Amino acid sequence: MPKLTFYGGVDEIGGNKILLEEGNTKVFLDFGMSFSEEGKFFEFPLLRPTNIDDLRKINVLPELEGLYKNAGLKVRYLPNGDFFVEETPEERKIDAIILSHGHLDHTGYLGLVRPDIPIYSSAATKKFLKLRSDINKNWAAEASQESFNTVEVDEERQIGKDLTIRRFDVDHSIVGASAYLICTKNKKIAYTGDFRFHGYRQKETEYFQNEIAKENIDVLITEGTRLSRKDEEKAFDTEEEVFEACCEFTKKEKGLVIYDASPADIDRVKTLSRVAKETGRELVLDDKKAYFVLYLNHNEQKNLVEDLPNIDDFKIYLSREKLKKTSKKFTEKIFNEDNLFVENFIEGRSGHQKILLAKQIMESKKSSEDFFKAIKIPDKKFLWGPLGRQEILSNPGKYILYTSNGPLTLLQFVPAGKKIEGSYIYGKAEPFNEEMEFSHDILENWIKLAGLNMKYAHTSGHASADDLKKFIQAVKPKLVMPVHTENAAMFEKFGAKILRPELKKIMEL
Ligand SMILES: [Zn+2]
Repeated sequence: MPKLTFYGGVDEIGGNKILLEEGNTKVFLDFGMSFSEEGKFFEFPLLRPTNIDDLRKINVLPELEGLYKNAGLKVRYLPNGDFFVEETPEERKIDAIILSHGHLDHTGYLGLVRPDIPIYSSAATKKFLKLRSDINKNWAAEASQESFNTVEVDEERQIGKDLTIRRFDVDHSIVGASAYLICTKNKKIAYTGDFRFHGYRQKETEYFQNEIAKENIDVLITEGTRLSRKDEEKAFDTEEEVFEACCEFTKKEKGLVIYDASPADIDRVKTLSRVAKETGRELVLDDKKAYFVLYLNHNEQKNLVEDLPNIDDFKIYLSREKLKKTSKKFTEKIFNEDNLFVENFIEGRSGHQKILLAKQIMESKKSSEDFFKAIKIPDKKFLWGPLGRQEILSNPGKYILYTSNGPLTLLQFVPAGKKIEGSYIYGKAEPFNEEMEFSHDILENWIKLAGLNMKYAHTSGHASADDLKKFIQAVKPKLVMPVHTENAAMFEKFGAKILRPELKKIMEL
């Protein structure tokens, strides 16, 4: 009999970590971070967990053997700095982690896991996580790329002796989102991950629904995010309505349009790229977003994500970077003040900005090194520094500025003592978010300070109550186990028989 243990995602939105055991085979479905639990004890940036023990103290991690990196390793240090190993690490006891998608509430603790535990996911999820780790260093979330086994749609994989998985693409507010059909010796389990029926990949979700409807599913583990949340009342029903609303706001606006969406939502970039074309404006992406969009398909054998905008479709806003004193080229020869603030195109850039500027760095340093096999981005595609910001503020009707970090963008753009003429279109669900972000109050203060008109154009990454009901009625699972929801009981109203997961309790199926 298969057994399920839920180590997160129970009566909370996010934090999915579900252990499935069958015979000698053990797999986790997702290994996500619990925002609500971490948020009770930690606060960025002054009080943060810095190692696995800090997280174990607040009981957010499964206490299992053979799961974590270097667990069981004991090292004795000698006063002279030498050390020797007293106990060797545990044996691996988990066969795989099956990932639905890259949001932190599904992947946020992957970096703690032994790299010899294979991770199964879509190729787009693997690449997304690589790009995210180039942009934001996050020790708890960074999985080794070597751990990944990418699975095609409809491909079946055997895991251990006792399990097979089949992967499906589903629509969600991130690239590469997957759902799975998992077959044990005598049970069929479907896991939705996070999904919806109203974005650009609606057909993929429908295909998943139709295929599992043929399978007589015993247990459906499904998300129910929107069964409790009232905070998305301002949201539109579909991605297409977001497009229409943004076109309407932009056409009426003579000033600058700033659009703010989740960093992981690449479909929204496609939408705003369409809005820019429709309204005759130029799209300007912040450097993080540009990095995702340009590099998702770069150096891959085939496209991981279809219909992405390319460098001809947008400009890149290179965020402000102080000229560091290590930029000896200028500091030693010309200036010597301690509080020197001169922005520089290349010097002092790091991480993903360095990769975006790689060709320029190569040329300026006359290095022959093939720097990250970089994309050639012409200088004129970058807007940066005081002149770049001045160009945008002087011609506000020409641009749509797309950001994932509104407060930072406004900090950089708002001139001291002046206002910006324009609209700020907010395209996120607040206060809930899947990629740790700023508090909404701080954003509102900056918008007020800038004098911008606040508008809303967003659609949820999650299925509506109606769509969930239709989904349950089409699939007809014998049992529903709701996760990633604060209103599990609602599934009863959809005619489902519910088995409510209990945190850390082993449930036999
Ligand atoms: Zn998600």
